[in-house]
Amino acid sequence: MEKDFHREFKKCPICVLREELAAILGKPELKLGNGEDRFLEQLATEAKKKGLAREDWRFHFQIVEGVVVDPTKAKSALIGSEAPGFGIMTDICMDCGCIYAADLTRIDQKKSLPPAQVIPPNRAERRRVDREQSPPFSLS
Ligand SMILES: [Zn+2]
Repeated sequence: MEKDFHREFKKCPICVLREELAAILGKPELKLGNGEDRFLEQLATEAKKKGLAREDWRFHFQIVEGVVVDPTKAKSALIGSEAPGFGIMTDICMDCGCIYAADLTRIDQKKSLPPAQVIPPNRAERRRVDREQSPPFSLS
């Protein structure tokens, strides 16, 4: 697989098959719809029209990211080493109800240093921080 693999699927695969089958068998009743309407994508479009989402925002049924690494090997991997990773977006066809991959993307990820641990301050330090952060006046 190429490092920059990315594929979008514009139509539901079941509806595409039904459309082809309808044509082959000469039975137009087998075709349900065009297979292009996605349930969650359409809800996101409505949210954008109401100003509740950015125009470039994408929303689907499931959006999953991860890396393909054997957990027993992950700890011993060197900092900076790269693991094959993925991004998957699925949605639901509004014509037949099929859940299918709308977008597949390869997202390789480099192993990085673990995040720095926050050490909780001692009690006197916590009180000083609380005093500085709390507002001088309160509405309640
Ligand atoms: Zn469909």
